[in-house]
Amino acid sequence: MWLKTYLDFSPSRQPWAAITNLIIEGSAQENAIAQAIQNPFLQCWDIPSRGPRLTCLNDDIRRMIKVAKDYNTNLAAVKTSARQRKQLPAWYHIDERLSTIKSRPKKCLIGKHETLIVMDLINVSARIRNQNRSNEHTPNPFCCCHNCLIDQEKGCYNPHECAQKALTKVQRISPKWNPWGPENPLDGLSLTPTCKTNNLQAKVNNDKIIFNPSLTCGDNVADTF
Ligand SMILES: [Zn+2]
Ligand SMILES: [Zn+2]
Repeated sequence: MWLKTYLDFSPSRQPWAAITNLIIEGSAQENAIAQAIQNPFLQCWDIPSRGPRLTCLNDDIRRMIKVAKDYNTNLAAVKTSARQRKQLPAWYHIDERLSTIKSRPKKCLIGKHETLIVMDLINVSARIRNQNRSNEHTPNPFCCCHNCLIDQEKGCYNPHECAQKALTKVQRISPKWNPWGPENPLDGLSLTPTCKTNNLQAKVNNDKIIFNPSLTCGDNVADTF
């Protein structure tokens, strides 16, 4: 039950779950960038099972982690929606191998542009994807378009490079997790709209309902657990 509540990432999430997450975040490896660490179940880093980092975690949290490990809790959705993929943490992405974040644009995207989730990277990269004539962005470090000026005010000295890095980071996410990838390819299992409507009517009339075998999860990331 604890684990289920902890893994509820909806706005109604209980305060203790958010605090527990902060404690677990503290156990991430030393050279990780704290701002980019969010949740080991949604990212490619692991909760320690031994060693000095384990001392950050109290007995209750250790028990909860043990349950999670025993039941092999992971982002096990067979299929995720584009909306869910956009909500995933942008850094230490579930799709990546754990490595140290070193480059200037990556550090800037985290520290100055405050990108947390994949959607934030999509937003930062919008200026170089926008083919509209009204887009005033120019591909150089001194661009004075609205977005680049805002970024410069935050202390970024090459917003164009950061926007480009944000774009390549999203493009490199594998199709399974890419928000621009195939949106729920047909599995032949989902009910047709007519079947769904008939089911609604059947519910009202207390009639037989046709089982919906679709493997797609709901829109919230927590639905994938
Ligand atoms: Zn610009
Ligand atoms: Zn930047």
